[in-house]
Amino acid sequence: MDWTLECSGCADVSGPGGLPTVCPVCGSPYLVRYARRPAPGPREALAGRAHTMWRFLEFLPLAAGEEPVSLGEGGTPLLRAERLGAALGMSDLWVKDEAANPTGSFKARGLAAAVTRAVRGGARHFVLPSAGNAGVAAAAYAARAGARVRVYAPTSTPPPLLAQIVGHGAELITIDGHIGDCGRLANDYAVHTRAMNLSTFREPYRVEGKKTLGLEIAEHFGWRLPAAIVYPTGGGTGLIALWKVFRELVDAGWVAGPTPRLFSVQAAGCAPVVAAFARGAERCEPWPDPETVASGLRVPGPVGGALMLRALRDTAGSAVAVSDEELLAGARQLATLEGVDASPEGGATVAATRKLAAAGTIAREEEVVLLNTGAGVLYGAALK
Ligand SMILES: *Cc1c(COP(=O)(O)O)cnc(C)c1O
Repeated sequence: MDWTLECSGCADVSGPGGLPTVCPVCGSPYLVRYARRPAPGPREALAGRAHTMWRFLEFLPLAAGEEPVSLGEGGTPLLRAERLGAALGMSDLWVKDEAANPTGSFKARGLAAAVTRAVRGGARHFVLPSAGNAGVAAAAYAARAGARVRVYAPTSTPPPLLAQIVGHGAELITIDGHIGDCGRLANDYAVHTRAMNLSTFREPYRVEGKKTLGLEIAEHFGWRLPAAIVYPTGGGTGLIALWKVFRELVDAGWVAGPTPRLFSVQAAGCAPVVAAFARGAERCEPWPDPETVASGLRVPGPVGGALMLRALRDTAGSAVAVSDEELLAGARQLATLEGVDASPEGGATVAATRKLAAAGTIAREEEVVLLNTGAGVLYGAALK
């Protein structure tokens, strides 16, 4: 596929020279725009392709004949959750289990796409800030590509995640602060060493990889879309990717609308998107003193904040906050009622669905998909 990069804020299409960061004109993230629509007819196009995320190459930034840097990411199970549904009073509940990805989380999808584009562009040295899972995925995909990566992570990151980052040979720097602090250090490092910054939304291809989540959901249901998706939101790549890909699918004629309502769940101790949504604001305000055991949700000033708010309003969704007690209880329910190795972030979707159903925002018989974004085992004692 041919594509260009377009600024999501001011629609600047000139694109920065070399490897992209954010728009030099207005500071917004770039998004990929494809030159051509995929041919109609998903069944013929996909027949015979392997069940990794790369089977959807019509929607991915891969040029003809290019091989991706891949560990076989994607193709994760979408499980009917009857017992959990009964506990929540929902009759058509599903869980997409992203713990089944290489490196144990859905970060694999984004980093596979980002590292692929970066190494095809000549990069051999990366840097990124991470709350844990992105660092593990970056370390693994860098190893797979024979490249180097430095990861800045908060000291509060669960020890098994830090051990995986080091285990894949990355250079790990732990910081007594949150991911925003790590992000500043990663930027400085990128400027000084010319390492490529893979930080969320300072790089446009992680979103493209995460779009495959939405493509798999659509394919699972026979090219029909569920009523709602509940997504645990940190930097927001997953949320924006779902919004983007459902529009691309409708444009391509692969599915009919309406597209699913998208619901964002955040931790009560770090809920900039929930607060901005409730205020009716177009941008997020930085959250002071972010605190939550769900480390992937501890993102106090997301670069993609304005885009997330657009995605939620555009799809008639909303944003809810849940306490750490509630999200941990949700993870236990996923583990004990369904056998799913849930991360705290995955548990947050259970707690959010309970609230959304109680408020009548989601009807009890609606087809709803929850995302267990990562494996619980990587959180160690934080999940107890
Ligand atoms: C990163 C992460 C999130 C948040 O994802 P974003 O795309 O940054 O919003 C949620 N859950 C887990 C397990 C994560 O690692």
